[in-house]
Amino acid sequence: TNEEAAAKAAAATTDTGGPTIFDKIIAKEIPSSIVYEDENVLAFRDINPQAPVHVLVIPKVRDGLTGLNKAEPRHTEILGQLLYAAKVVAEKEGVANGYRVAINNGAEGCQSVYHLHLHVLGGRQMKWPPG
Ligand code: IMP
Repeated sequence: TNEEAAAKAAAATTDTGGPTIFDKIIAKEIPSSIVYEDENVLAFRDINPQAPVHVLVIPKVRDGLTGLNKAEPRHTEILGQLLYAAKVVAEKEGVANGYRVAINNGAEGCQSVYHLHLHVLGGRQMKWPPG
């Protein structure tokens, strides 16, 4: 299943602090379907969508934020901007009345790309608890 594949991929990935595929997306070296962009934030469609709407919201500058557990006081402004952008994305995507914002942190949290990102998922009935 997709879930098992994601868990496996995450377990095989480690936080090196090095470049990730998202750097190439930010630099527009590889194509992505951009949903929202401002000075500090980029939002684009997940290549392996888990819901009819599945958008990733990322900081354009990683600044050490490989994952949420690397957050420092200097990051609180961008963290707020990311969360606000998730709300804007949900509105733009027409799912404002029901959606989920998720952050996977670390291998056990199923994180596979070590550049902080918020998942915005919607367009179907979400289940709780997530797997
Ligand atoms: P994570 O598992 O929470 O780290 O989420 C990483 C997400 O990035 C996964 O949902 C992947 O499907 C997605 N992803 C990986 N590479 C790309 C890409 O090149 N474009 C868009 N999404 C990607």
